[in-house]
Amino acid sequence: MIYYNLKDKKEQVDFKTATIKGQGNEKGLFFPTKIPQFEKDFIENLPQFSDEEIAFRCMKDFVGDEIPESIIKEIVSQTINFEIPLKKINDKISVLELFHGPTLAFKDIGARFMSQCLSYFLKDEDKKVTVLVATSGDTGGAVAHGFYKTPGVNVVILYPKNRVSPVQEKQLTALGENISAIEVNGTFDDCQTMVKQAFSDQEINANLFLTSANSINVARWLPQQIYYLLALKQWQKTNNENPVICVPSGNFGNICAGILAHFRGLPVEHFIAACNENDSIPSYLKTQKLEYKNTVATLSNAMDVGHPSNFVRILEIFENQFENLKNTVSGYSINDEQTLKTITDVYTKYGYTLEPHSAVAFTALEKFTEENPDKKGFILGTAHPVKFPDAVEKATNIKIELPESLVDLMNKEKKTVEINADFEELKRILLDKN
Ligand SMILES: *Cc1c(COP(=O)(O)O)cnc(C)c1O
Repeated sequence: MIYYNLKDKKEQVDFKTATIKGQGNEKGLFFPTKIPQFEKDFIENLPQFSDEEIAFRCMKDFVGDEIPESIIKEIVSQTINFEIPLKKINDKISVLELFHGPTLAFKDIGARFMSQCLSYFLKDEDKKVTVLVATSGDTGGAVAHGFYKTPGVNVVILYPKNRVSPVQEKQLTALGENISAIEVNGTFDDCQTMVKQAFSDQEINANLFLTSANSINVARWLPQQIYYLLALKQWQKTNNENPVICVPSGNFGNICAGILAHFRGLPVEHFIAACNENDSIPSYLKTQKLEYKNTVATLSNAMDVGHPSNFVRILEIFENQFENLKNTVSGYSINDEQTLKTITDVYTKYGYTLEPHSAVAFTALEKFTEENPDKKGFILGTAHPVKFPDAVEKATNIKIELPESLVDLMNKEKKTVEINADFEELKRILLDKN
Protein backbone atom coordinates (compact mmCIF):
# COMPACT_ATOMS: atom_id res chain seq x y z
CA MET A 1 0.00 0.00 0.00
CA ILE A 2 1.18 3.50 -0.79
CA TYR A 3 0.42 6.34 1.61
CA TYR A 4 0.39 10.05 0.86
CA ASN A 5 1.08 12.99 3.13
CA LEU A 6 -2.11 14.96 3.80
CA LYS A 7 -0.07 18.19 3.81
CA ASP A 8 1.89 17.41 0.66
CA LYS A 9 0.19 14.88 -1.61
CA LYS A 10 3.34 14.55 -3.68
CA GLU A 11 5.11 12.87 -0.78
CA GLN A 12 4.18 9.21 -1.25
CA VAL A 13 5.71 6.39 0.76
CA ASP A 14 5.29 2.66 1.31
CA PHE A 15 4.07 1.08 4.55
CA LYS A 16 7.59 0.47 5.80
CA THR A 17 8.63 4.11 5.39
CA ALA A 18 5.38 5.39 6.90
CA THR A 19 5.91 3.11 9.90
CA ILE A 20 9.54 4.09 10.48
CA LYS A 21 9.07 7.83 9.84
CA GLY A 22 5.80 8.15 11.75
CA GLN A 23 4.86 11.37 10.00
CA GLY A 24 5.61 13.16 6.75
CA ASN A 25 7.07 16.54 5.83
CA GLU A 26 5.68 19.55 7.69
CA LYS A 27 4.38 17.09 10.32
CA GLY A 28 1.75 15.89 7.82
CA LEU A 29 -0.16 12.67 8.50
CA PHE A 30 0.04 9.75 6.11
CA PHE A 31 -3.17 8.42 4.57
CA PRO A 32 -3.73 5.35 2.34
CA THR A 33 -4.06 6.08 -1.39
CA LYS A 34 -6.88 3.51 -1.60
CA ILE A 35 -9.56 2.51 0.88
CA PRO A 36 -9.78 -1.26 0.34
CA GLN A 37 -13.30 -2.71 0.57
CA PHE A 38 -14.30 -5.76 2.62
CA GLU A 39 -15.87 -8.63 0.74
CA LYS A 40 -19.63 -8.64 1.37
CA ASP A 41 -19.66 -12.32 2.20
CA PHE A 42 -16.98 -11.75 4.85
CA ILE A 43 -18.34 -8.64 6.53
CA GLU A 44 -21.93 -9.92 6.73
CA ASN A 45 -20.91 -13.24 8.24
CA LEU A 46 -18.27 -12.30 10.78
CA PRO A 47 -19.37 -14.93 13.36
CA GLN A 48 -18.18 -17.60 10.93
CA PHE A 49 -14.57 -16.40 11.02
CA SER A 50 -11.93 -16.77 13.73
CA ASP A 51 -10.67 -13.62 15.41
CA GLU A 52 -7.21 -14.13 13.87
CA GLU A 53 -8.69 -14.48 10.38
CA ILE A 54 -10.74 -11.31 10.86
CA ALA A 55 -7.69 -9.38 12.06
CA PHE A 56 -5.60 -10.67 9.18
CA ARG A 57 -8.18 -9.75 6.53
CA CYS A 58 -8.59 -6.35 8.14
CA MET A 59 -4.88 -5.51 7.95
CA LYS A 60 -3.35 -7.33 5.00
CA ASP A 61 -4.16 -4.75 2.30
CA PHE A 62 -2.55 -1.97 4.34
CA VAL A 63 0.71 -3.89 4.65
CA GLY A 64 0.66 -5.38 1.16
CA ASP A 65 3.61 -7.58 0.31
CA GLU A 66 6.02 -5.62 2.49
CA ILE A 67 5.72 -8.26 5.20
CA PRO A 68 5.15 -11.96 4.28
CA GLU A 69 1.58 -13.16 4.93
CA SER A 70 2.68 -15.76 7.46
CA ILE A 71 4.37 -13.06 9.51
CA ILE A 72 1.40 -10.67 9.27
CA LYS A 73 -0.68 -13.55 10.65
CA GLU A 74 1.70 -13.94 13.60
CA ILE A 75 1.72 -10.20 14.20
CA VAL A 76 -2.07 -9.86 14.29
CA SER A 77 -2.40 -12.92 16.54
CA GLN A 78 0.01 -11.31 19.01
CA THR A 79 -1.84 -8.01 18.68
CA ILE A 80 -5.13 -9.48 19.92
CA ASN A 81 -4.02 -12.28 22.21
CA PHE A 82 -6.23 -11.18 25.10
CA GLU A 83 -10.00 -11.14 25.43
CA ILE A 84 -12.03 -8.26 23.95
CA PRO A 85 -15.55 -8.99 25.25
CA LEU A 86 -18.72 -7.09 24.38
CA LYS A 87 -20.76 -6.88 27.62
CA LYS A 88 -24.36 -5.77 27.95
CA ILE A 89 -24.92 -3.06 30.57
CA ASN A 90 -28.64 -2.46 29.88
CA ASP A 91 -31.13 -2.89 27.02
CA LYS A 92 -29.71 0.01 25.06
CA ILE A 93 -26.02 0.09 25.93
CA SER A 94 -23.23 -2.48 25.86
CA VAL A 95 -19.51 -1.96 26.39
CA LEU A 96 -16.63 -3.33 24.34
CA GLU A 97 -13.92 -3.92 26.95
CA LEU A 98 -10.62 -3.04 25.31
CA PHE A 99 -8.61 -3.02 28.53
CA HIS A 100 -7.55 -6.62 29.09
CA GLY A 101 -4.15 -6.18 27.44
CA PRO A 102 -0.84 -5.88 29.31
CA THR A 103 -1.18 -2.18 30.21
CA LEU A 104 -4.97 -2.21 30.67
CA ALA A 105 -5.80 0.38 28.01
CA PHE A 106 -6.92 0.10 24.38
CA LYS A 107 -3.62 1.62 23.24
CA ASP A 108 -2.05 -1.81 23.74
CA ILE A 109 -3.62 -2.98 20.49
CA GLY A 110 -2.15 -0.30 18.24
CA ALA A 111 1.16 -0.29 20.09
CA ARG A 112 1.61 -4.05 19.84
CA PHE A 113 0.95 -4.07 16.11
CA MET A 114 3.26 -1.13 15.49
CA SER A 115 6.12 -2.42 17.62
CA GLN A 116 6.09 -5.78 15.88
CA CYS A 117 6.05 -4.17 12.43
CA LEU A 118 8.91 -1.87 13.43
CA SER A 119 10.90 -4.80 14.80
CA TYR A 120 10.37 -6.67 11.54
CA PHE A 121 11.48 -3.73 9.40
CA LEU A 122 14.48 -2.96 11.59
CA LYS A 123 15.76 -6.49 12.11
CA ASP A 124 18.37 -6.18 9.38
CA GLU A 125 19.73 -2.85 10.63
CA ASP A 126 23.11 -3.28 12.25
CA LYS A 127 22.70 -0.11 14.31
CA LYS A 128 20.77 -0.34 17.53
CA VAL A 129 17.45 1.50 17.32
CA THR A 130 16.22 3.94 19.96
CA VAL A 131 12.49 4.47 20.21
CA LEU A 132 11.97 7.85 21.85
CA VAL A 133 8.51 8.68 23.16
CA ALA A 134 6.84 11.35 25.30
CA THR A 135 3.77 10.26 27.22
CA SER A 136 1.01 11.74 29.33
CA GLY A 137 0.32 8.25 30.72
CA ASP A 138 -1.09 5.45 28.59
CA THR A 139 0.94 5.65 25.40
CA GLY A 140 4.34 5.18 27.04
CA GLY A 141 3.30 2.04 28.90
CA ALA A 142 1.75 0.46 25.83
CA VAL A 143 4.83 1.23 23.72
CA ALA A 144 7.20 -0.02 26.44
CA HIS A 145 5.34 -3.32 26.71
CA GLY A 146 5.25 -3.65 22.93
CA PHE A 147 9.06 -3.47 22.73
CA TYR A 148 9.92 -5.14 26.04
CA LYS A 149 12.96 -7.41 25.53
CA THR A 150 12.99 -6.83 21.74
CA PRO A 151 16.60 -7.41 20.63
CA GLY A 152 18.30 -4.39 19.04
CA VAL A 153 15.73 -1.89 20.33
CA ASN A 154 16.05 0.53 23.26
CA VAL A 155 13.02 2.46 24.42
CA VAL A 156 13.38 5.83 26.15
CA ILE A 157 10.21 7.29 27.66
CA LEU A 158 9.81 10.85 28.89
CA TYR A 159 6.96 11.59 31.28
CA PRO A 160 5.97 14.57 33.45
CA LYS A 161 6.90 14.00 37.09
CA ASN A 162 3.91 13.58 39.44
CA ARG A 163 1.41 13.83 36.61
CA VAL A 164 0.74 10.18 35.83
CA SER A 165 -1.26 7.78 38.01
CA PRO A 166 0.59 5.26 40.25
CA VAL A 167 -0.27 2.30 38.01
CA GLN A 168 0.79 4.20 34.92
CA GLU A 169 4.07 5.18 36.57
CA LYS A 170 4.95 1.58 37.42
CA GLN A 171 4.14 0.52 33.87
CA LEU A 172 6.65 3.08 32.61
CA THR A 173 9.41 2.70 35.17
CA ALA A 174 9.51 -0.81 36.59
CA LEU A 175 10.06 -2.98 33.53
CA GLY A 176 13.81 -2.45 33.24
CA GLU A 177 15.76 -4.41 30.60
CA ASN A 178 15.68 -2.35 27.37
CA ILE A 179 13.15 0.18 28.70
CA SER A 180 14.36 3.39 30.39
CA ALA A 181 12.17 6.08 31.87
CA ILE A 182 13.07 9.72 32.31
CA GLU A 183 10.96 11.76 34.67
CA VAL A 184 10.85 15.39 33.70
CA ASN A 185 10.30 18.28 36.08
CA GLY A 186 7.72 19.82 33.80
CA THR A 187 4.55 19.18 31.82
CA PHE A 188 3.66 16.73 29.06
CA ASP A 189 4.12 19.55 26.56
CA ASP A 190 7.71 20.03 27.80
CA CYS A 191 8.37 16.32 27.26
CA GLN A 192 6.92 16.45 23.77
CA THR A 193 8.94 19.54 22.87
CA MET A 194 12.18 17.87 23.99
CA VAL A 195 11.40 14.74 21.97
CA LYS A 196 10.74 16.83 18.86
CA GLN A 197 14.01 18.67 19.43
CA ALA A 198 15.89 15.37 19.69
CA PHE A 199 14.52 14.26 16.32
CA SER A 200 15.93 17.36 14.66
CA ASP A 201 19.29 17.43 16.51
CA GLN A 202 22.20 16.68 14.18
CA GLU A 203 24.59 15.34 16.78
CA ILE A 204 22.03 12.93 18.21
CA ASN A 205 21.04 11.70 14.76
CA ALA A 206 24.66 11.18 13.76
CA ASN A 207 25.13 8.88 16.76
CA LEU A 208 21.77 7.22 17.27
CA PHE A 209 19.15 5.69 15.01
CA LEU A 210 16.03 7.35 16.46
CA THR A 211 12.49 6.20 15.68
CA SER A 212 9.21 7.66 16.88
CA ALA A 213 6.32 5.68 18.31
CA ASN A 214 4.04 8.54 17.78
CA SER A 215 0.28 8.11 18.07
CA ILE A 216 -0.36 9.25 14.51
CA ASN A 217 1.81 6.48 13.05
CA VAL A 218 -0.28 4.52 10.51
CA ALA A 219 0.91 1.27 12.12
CA ARG A 220 -0.75 2.37 15.36
CA TRP A 221 -3.83 3.93 13.82
CA LEU A 222 -4.94 1.27 11.33
CA PRO A 223 -4.95 -1.86 13.56
CA GLN A 224 -7.56 -0.14 15.74
CA GLN A 225 -10.07 -1.15 13.04
CA ILE A 226 -9.67 -4.77 14.12
CA TYR A 227 -11.69 -4.51 17.31
CA TYR A 228 -14.60 -2.82 15.58
CA LEU A 229 -14.87 -6.00 13.49
CA LEU A 230 -14.48 -8.22 16.55
CA ALA A 231 -17.24 -6.20 18.25
CA LEU A 232 -19.57 -6.60 15.25
CA LYS A 233 -18.87 -10.33 15.26
CA GLN A 234 -20.25 -10.49 18.81
CA TRP A 235 -23.03 -7.97 18.11
CA GLN A 236 -24.35 -9.89 15.09
CA LYS A 237 -24.90 -13.00 17.22
CA THR A 238 -27.74 -11.36 19.17
CA ASN A 239 -28.87 -8.29 17.21
CA ASN A 240 -30.43 -7.74 13.81
CA GLU A 241 -30.14 -3.97 13.63
CA ASN A 242 -26.80 -2.21 13.20
CA PRO A 243 -25.20 -0.64 16.29
CA VAL A 244 -24.56 2.97 17.20
CA ILE A 245 -20.90 3.07 18.27
CA CYS A 246 -19.83 5.66 20.81
CA VAL A 247 -16.10 6.37 21.16
CA PRO A 248 -14.48 8.39 23.97
CA SER A 249 -12.30 10.69 21.91
CA GLY A 250 -9.21 12.82 22.44
CA ASN A 251 -6.88 12.75 19.48
CA PHE A 252 -9.61 11.06 17.37
CA GLY A 253 -7.42 8.17 16.17
CA ASN A 254 -9.69 5.53 17.65
CA ILE A 255 -12.98 6.81 16.18
CA CYS A 256 -11.24 7.54 12.88
CA ALA A 257 -10.26 3.86 12.61
CA GLY A 258 -13.89 2.86 13.18
CA ILE A 259 -15.12 5.27 10.54
CA LEU A 260 -12.53 3.89 8.10
CA ALA A 261 -13.76 0.33 8.76
CA HIS A 262 -17.32 1.58 8.13
CA PHE A 263 -16.28 3.05 4.78
CA ARG A 264 -14.79 -0.33 3.89
CA GLY A 265 -18.20 -1.92 4.45
CA LEU A 266 -18.61 -2.53 8.19
CA PRO A 267 -22.32 -2.09 8.97
CA VAL A 268 -22.70 0.66 11.59
CA GLU A 269 -25.83 2.74 12.20
CA HIS A 270 -24.09 5.86 13.52
CA PHE A 271 -20.92 7.04 15.29
CA ILE A 272 -20.75 9.26 18.34
CA ALA A 273 -17.64 11.19 19.29
CA ALA A 274 -17.84 11.55 23.07
CA CYS A 275 -15.60 14.30 24.38
CA ASN A 276 -15.04 15.88 27.76
CA GLU A 277 -14.99 19.67 28.05
CA ASN A 278 -12.40 19.81 25.29
CA ASP A 279 -15.15 20.18 22.73
CA SER A 280 -13.56 21.51 19.49
CA ILE A 281 -15.08 18.73 17.41
CA PRO A 282 -18.57 18.50 18.96
CA SER A 283 -18.91 22.25 18.40
CA TYR A 284 -17.62 21.92 14.84
CA LEU A 285 -20.27 19.26 14.16
CA LYS A 286 -22.93 21.71 15.40
CA THR A 287 -21.70 24.93 13.81
CA GLN A 288 -19.43 23.82 10.93
CA LYS A 289 -16.83 26.19 12.38
CA LEU A 290 -13.55 24.47 13.19
CA GLU A 291 -11.91 26.32 16.07
CA TYR A 292 -9.16 24.65 18.04
CA LYS A 293 -9.15 25.71 21.67
CA ASN A 294 -6.69 25.60 24.54
CA THR A 295 -6.72 22.35 26.45
CA VAL A 296 -8.56 22.23 29.77
CA ALA A 297 -7.70 19.63 32.43
CA THR A 298 -10.45 17.08 33.22
CA LEU A 299 -10.93 13.73 34.98
CA SER A 300 -10.68 11.91 31.64
CA ASN A 301 -7.18 13.25 31.08
CA ALA A 302 -6.25 11.03 28.13
CA MET A 303 -8.85 13.02 26.20
CA ASP A 304 -7.57 16.46 27.19
CA VAL A 305 -6.75 17.47 23.65
CA GLY A 306 -7.64 20.88 22.23
CA HIS A 307 -6.39 20.18 18.71
CA PRO A 308 -7.10 16.54 17.79
CA SER A 309 -4.48 15.55 15.24
CA ASN A 310 -6.43 12.74 13.58
CA PHE A 311 -9.42 14.87 12.71
CA VAL A 312 -7.84 15.77 9.35
CA ARG A 313 -7.97 12.06 8.49
CA ILE A 314 -11.71 12.02 9.20
CA LEU A 315 -12.20 15.02 6.92
CA GLU A 316 -10.21 13.18 4.24
CA ILE A 317 -12.39 10.06 4.53
CA PHE A 318 -15.48 12.23 4.03
CA GLU A 319 -13.74 14.19 1.26
CA ASN A 320 -14.61 17.34 3.25
CA GLN A 321 -18.34 16.87 2.68
CA PHE A 322 -19.75 18.33 5.89
CA GLU A 323 -23.32 17.04 5.37
CA ASN A 324 -22.14 13.44 4.99
CA LEU A 325 -19.91 13.76 8.01
CA LYS A 326 -22.76 15.19 10.09
CA ASN A 327 -25.11 12.39 9.03
CA THR A 328 -22.63 9.73 10.12
CA VAL A 329 -21.03 11.25 13.24
CA SER A 330 -22.55 13.16 16.17
CA GLY A 331 -20.57 14.86 18.91
CA TYR A 332 -21.28 15.30 22.61
CA SER A 333 -19.32 17.19 25.25
CA ILE A 334 -19.69 15.87 28.81
CA ASN A 335 -18.38 17.71 31.88
CA ASP A 336 -16.69 16.20 34.95
CA GLU A 337 -19.77 16.53 37.12
CA GLN A 338 -21.87 14.49 34.66
CA THR A 339 -19.02 12.00 34.31
CA LEU A 340 -18.87 11.32 38.05
CA LYS A 341 -22.65 11.10 38.27
CA THR A 342 -22.68 8.49 35.50
CA ILE A 343 -20.01 6.41 37.27
CA THR A 344 -22.15 6.50 40.43
CA ASP A 345 -25.44 5.75 38.62
CA VAL A 346 -24.14 2.92 36.47
CA TYR A 347 -22.49 1.29 39.47
CA THR A 348 -25.67 1.62 41.58
CA LYS A 349 -28.14 0.54 38.88
CA TYR A 350 -26.18 -2.14 37.02
CA GLY A 351 -23.23 -3.03 39.25
CA TYR A 352 -20.83 -2.10 36.44
CA THR A 353 -17.74 0.00 37.17
CA LEU A 354 -16.89 2.63 34.57
CA GLU A 355 -13.74 4.75 34.61
CA PRO A 356 -13.93 8.43 33.55
CA HIS A 357 -13.24 7.98 29.79
CA SER A 358 -15.80 5.21 29.37
CA ALA A 359 -18.22 7.19 31.56
CA VAL A 360 -18.03 10.13 29.15
CA ALA A 361 -18.98 7.71 26.37
CA PHE A 362 -21.78 6.11 28.38
CA THR A 363 -23.30 9.52 29.13
CA ALA A 364 -23.17 10.50 25.45
CA LEU A 365 -24.74 7.25 24.21
CA GLU A 366 -27.43 7.51 26.87
CA LYS A 367 -28.32 11.02 25.66
CA PHE A 368 -28.34 9.82 22.04
CA THR A 369 -30.64 6.86 22.77
CA GLU A 370 -32.99 9.14 24.70
CA GLU A 371 -33.18 11.37 21.63
CA ASN A 372 -33.42 8.34 19.30
CA PRO A 373 -35.44 5.74 21.24
CA ASP A 374 -35.37 3.12 18.46
CA LYS A 375 -31.56 2.91 18.45
CA LYS A 376 -29.07 0.99 20.54
CA GLY A 377 -25.38 0.30 20.51
CA PHE A 378 -22.16 0.09 22.45
CA ILE A 379 -19.39 2.25 23.87
CA LEU A 380 -15.70 1.50 23.67
CA GLY A 381 -14.33 0.88 27.17
CA THR A 382 -10.86 2.30 26.69
CA ALA A 383 -9.24 1.77 30.12
CA HIS A 384 -9.51 -0.40 33.21
CA PRO A 385 -10.94 1.45 36.26
CA VAL A 386 -7.78 0.66 38.24
CA LYS A 387 -5.86 3.11 36.06
CA PHE A 388 -8.02 5.97 37.34
CA PRO A 389 -8.74 4.94 40.94
CA ASP A 390 -9.25 8.41 42.42
CA ALA A 391 -12.29 9.33 40.34
CA VAL A 392 -13.79 5.86 40.48
CA GLU A 393 -13.42 5.53 44.25
CA LYS A 394 -14.83 9.01 44.75
CA ALA A 395 -17.92 8.18 42.68
CA THR A 396 -18.61 4.67 43.96
CA ASN A 397 -17.06 4.47 47.44
CA ILE A 398 -15.59 1.11 46.52
CA LYS A 399 -11.95 0.20 46.59
CA ILE A 400 -10.81 -1.13 43.24
CA GLU A 401 -9.06 -4.45 43.30
CA LEU A 402 -5.76 -4.65 41.51
CA PRO A 403 -5.98 -7.22 38.71
CA GLU A 404 -3.62 -10.13 39.27
CA SER A 405 -1.49 -9.17 36.30
CA LEU A 406 -0.58 -5.94 38.10
CA VAL A 407 0.27 -7.21 41.57
CA ASP A 408 3.80 -8.23 40.58
CA LEU A 409 4.41 -5.00 38.72
CA MET A 410 3.24 -2.83 41.62
CA ASN A 411 5.74 -4.58 43.88
CA LYS A 412 8.63 -3.87 41.54
CA GLU A 413 10.94 -0.97 42.12
CA LYS A 414 10.57 2.26 40.15
CA LYS A 415 13.74 3.12 38.22
CA THR A 416 14.05 6.53 36.61
CA VAL A 417 16.45 9.30 35.85
CA GLU A 418 15.12 12.71 36.81
CA ILE A 419 15.89 15.74 34.65
CA ASN A 420 14.72 19.31 34.24
CA ALA A 421 12.80 20.38 31.18
CA ASP A 422 16.12 21.14 29.55
CA PHE A 423 17.00 19.63 26.19
CA GLU A 424 20.76 19.56 26.94
CA GLU A 425 20.13 17.20 29.87
CA LEU A 426 18.17 14.83 27.64
CA LYS A 427 20.83 15.02 24.95
CA ARG A 428 23.60 14.08 27.36
CA ILE A 429 21.64 11.01 28.51
CA LEU A 430 20.90 9.89 24.97
CA LEU A 431 24.50 10.28 23.82
CA ASP A 432 25.84 8.50 26.91
CA LYS A 433 23.59 5.54 26.23
CA ASN A 434 25.14 4.96 22.89
C1 LIG B 1 -5.86 7.75 24.41
C2 LIG B 1 -7.12 7.49 25.14
C3 LIG B 1 -8.38 7.92 24.65
C4 LIG B 1 -8.52 8.78 23.41
O1 LIG B 1 -8.26 8.07 22.24
P1 LIG B 1 -8.00 8.88 20.86
O2 LIG B 1 -7.65 7.85 19.86
O3 LIG B 1 -6.84 9.80 21.17
O4 LIG B 1 -9.23 9.65 20.54
C5 LIG B 1 -9.53 7.58 25.36
N1 LIG B 1 -9.46 6.86 26.50
C6 LIG B 1 -8.29 6.44 27.01
C7 LIG B 1 -8.28 5.68 28.28
C8 LIG B 1 -7.07 6.73 26.35
O5 LIG B 1 -5.91 6.30 26.87
